Amino acid sequence: MSKNNSLDSQNNNSKSKTESSQNSNRWHLGCTSLQRMGKNLLEIRWIRRTWHVWERTPPFLKIVFSKDGLLSFKGRTLIRGKFRRAFLSLFPSVAHKLQKHYGISGECQHCSTSCKILFQCPHWDDASSRCGVYEDRPNICRTFPITPQDIKDRNLVSPDKPCGFIFKKKSK
Ligand code: SF4
Repeated sequence: MSKNNSLDSQNNNSKSKTESSQNSNRWHLGCTSLQRMGKNLLEIRWIRRTWHVWERTPPFLKIVFSKDGLLSFKGRTLIRGKFRRAFLSLFPSVAHKLQKHYGISGECQHCSTSCKILFQCPHWDDASSRCGVYEDRPNICRTFPITPQDIKDRNLVSPDKPCGFIFKKKSK
């Protein structure tokens, strides 16, 4: 009788081991398929770009609710600027019309200041002085600066290094 019990218990143990290994295999397969699906989705350009914008959200929120964000005058100005540019850059043709209206000229000097307004963008790499997602950078980066106020915002961050862009007209 006791031998039978011991055999039963051995059988149960090996059954539960097999089940747990099957579960772990299923879990592993599930994770792998999710990873593959994520990778495939990131092959789609607009999803990749949207994802790069989302990646900037945690450092943005962190600074917004810090003493350098909503609690300071400079912070509030820069936050307003971020929202203004984020909204305008949703309509690139409007952004380009505004640039033209204010008489934009010059070119980017790659000083990296626009990547450090309010917070340092997680895609910016100081060591190589490069944007890690340059080909897929968001519109807000592609259209910078849109109005003279954007240069003013930028100069709050880096007053000593002039921007390569200038506007003929001043904003009100
Ligand atoms: S251009 Fe600058 S701000 Fe834009 S994604 Fe690249 S590093 Fe970030």
